[in-house]
Amino acid sequence: MSEQREQREVREHREPRGGFNKKRRGKRRKVCSFCVDKVKTVDYKDINRLGRYVSERGKILPRRITGNCAAHQRAVTVAIKNSRVVALMPYTTEI
Ligand SMILES: [Zn+2]
Repeated sequence: MSEQREQREVREHREPRGGFNKKRRGKRRKVCSFCVDKVKTVDYKDINRLGRYVSERGKILPRRITGNCAAHQRAVTVAIKNSRVVALMPYTTEI
């Protein structure tokens, strides 16, 4: 019986994709910062804000990291793409 229990525990502690057990313990809700600020439209000129949603290489971060809601994540994506066109944000950064 105890063996079975052990196995279950091992499975629970293993993270998918070989990740390490990091923070994600208790339930800390991510909230969409645009919903909090009651922002309806995301301005493509607001690079200070948009800069938080791209990686250091200039890639747009996925929602699971940003914590944005679907509507705002879409707005952010569009805004970042627009600001790339007018060269406010980079497509990629050379390292
Ligand atoms: Zn939102």
